[in-house]
Amino acid sequence: MEKSLVLIKPDGIKRKLVGEIIKRYEYRGLMIENIKMIKPTTNMLKQHYIEHIDKPFFAELVDYMSSDFVVAIVLSGEHAIELVRKINGSTNYMQAELGSIRGDFANSITRNLVHGCDSPESFKREYDIWFG
Ligand code: UDP
Repeated sequence: MEKSLVLIKPDGIKRKLVGEIIKRYEYRGLMIENIKMIKPTTNMLKQHYIEHIDKPFFAELVDYMSSDFVVAIVLSGEHAIELVRKINGSTNYMQAELGSIRGDFANSITRNLVHGCDSPESFKREYDIWFG
């Protein structure tokens, strides 16, 4: 069993897609281990997106993510990390596969509804930020 850290971003809540998004993880067999709503601080987001700190979109991303509540979720299941990223779809909504969350609902690269951690190491790091 593996664990994955998911965030439903502010646009997911504003667009009332929280139930739709969670349903997709549950239907693929993933189990909710923990879930909460949280309004992230800039500091949390700087830690969370540390790998992107030098990217041109970093400031916009942190502004957007700190603008409102997000839903933070720990999911568990076999291959949870890869499965979540498949269910989420590609970062760029134009390339996201139809049938994925982003492929079906996203209309912006920044406001792309969901985040999923990309490795067991990032799960640990992100878990400490969101649930520590
Ligand atoms: N992002 C952005 N512009 C870009 C690339 C990424 O605003 O050109 C944002 C987007 O919200 C994305 C997040 O930065 O989800 C993190 O980027 P990453 O490449 O790690 O994508 P993810 O793992 O979320 O698919």
